[in-house]
Amino acid sequence: MLFLNLKSLQKNIFKEGSKGAFLVMREFEKNIRKVKPYVPGEQPRQKAIKLNTNENPYPPAPGVARALKDMDAESFRLYPDPEASALVEELAGYYHVRPEQVFVGVGSDDVLAMCFLTFFNSKKPILFPDITYSFYEVWAELYRIPYERPALDAEFHLVKEDYYRENGGVIFPNPNAPTALYEELGVVEDIVAHNQDSIVIVDEAYIDFAGRSALELIDKYDNLIVVQTFSKARSMAGMRIGYAIGGPVLIRYLNDAKYSFNSYTMNQASLLCGVEAVKDKEYFEEGIRKIIETREWAKRELKELGFHFTASQANFLFVSHPAYDARELFEALREEGIYVRYWGGRRISQYMRITVGTREEMEALFSFLRGYIMER
Ligand code: PMP
Repeated sequence: MLFLNLKSLQKNIFKEGSKGAFLVMREFEKNIRKVKPYVPGEQPRQKAIKLNTNENPYPPAPGVARALKDMDAESFRLYPDPEASALVEELAGYYHVRPEQVFVGVGSDDVLAMCFLTFFNSKKPILFPDITYSFYEVWAELYRIPYERPALDAEFHLVKEDYYRENGGVIFPNPNAPTALYEELGVVEDIVAHNQDSIVIVDEAYIDFAGRSALELIDKYDNLIVVQTFSKARSMAGMRIGYAIGGPVLIRYLNDAKYSFNSYTMNQASLLCGVEAVKDKEYFEEGIRKIIETREWAKRELKELGFHFTASQANFLFVSHPAYDARELFEALREEGIYVRYWGGRRISQYMRITVGTREEMEALFSFLRGYIMER
């Protein structure tokens, strides 16, 4: 018999105290996993100049549009290939590794979340920088993994010696976000080499805009996992494709965790489009070249306007102005329909992150900034 005693339910929720009604925790709440979620950048509904989530301003490779056009909805009746073989093989070919060394997922967020679950199971703290991709702390909290956050140096570079201490794993992005700074491969190798009893994850979401990848070290170190994404240089954030490359043993463990969670993470459209994107190396390289060119021009413009910024090797700039408050500037830009990212918080309260858009988008940004600075 369904029995609902509304009066007693209300009595449980609200109790009268000296300061009036207050909320009382229901018994079941004790069993709920409470998390402070990651906050993604805004996706404005109206037309805007969107420089806030590090998307690529150019379309994906033309083969992607063709593949989508040729797709037959009839094929959606069936489950996709649980092994995502076509995409795994295409990536393995591209990066000169074996398919057993490649793991794919729904964006690198999914791949990284699976890596945290699979590799970080020690009682010792995992290590990641004090200023970095804010999702790492969210996953550590979600999975209840202890963590410590060594400080970046005054110029926002990694201090490699801070990663020599005992730990339950290490993760950092290279280039780092939101600082945009790239660490030379020697620094990365030093950290991997000093941590052969832990797994080291190098999150290379932005590596295509920077320098040498830690993929070069994969065969040398069996404790290394490199994670990359289709969201940035491959222009496919909306398709949600990410991948990890490492030794076959680690990849097998990742797949075991994945199959214990959801066998079919990759949908058919993503698999098909992902393969087409990887096939077109020329388009990929040309897109990167254009973004780097705009980034370097934008640095010169920023300098002229008196901004300080890090030596970005990513598709975004991390900027600060000695004379203008970053939050106020962020809000003024937003009013104008120009979206950039601002977090506030320790050490970075005077910084904004600006994604490198097209030359035209960046010109609109600089035209507004010039006016803003002249008015004050
Ligand atoms: N790592 C870093 C450092 C990022 O900035 C991002 C983008 N927010 C990601 C991973 C996740 O990207 P995606 O899930 O789109 O692959």
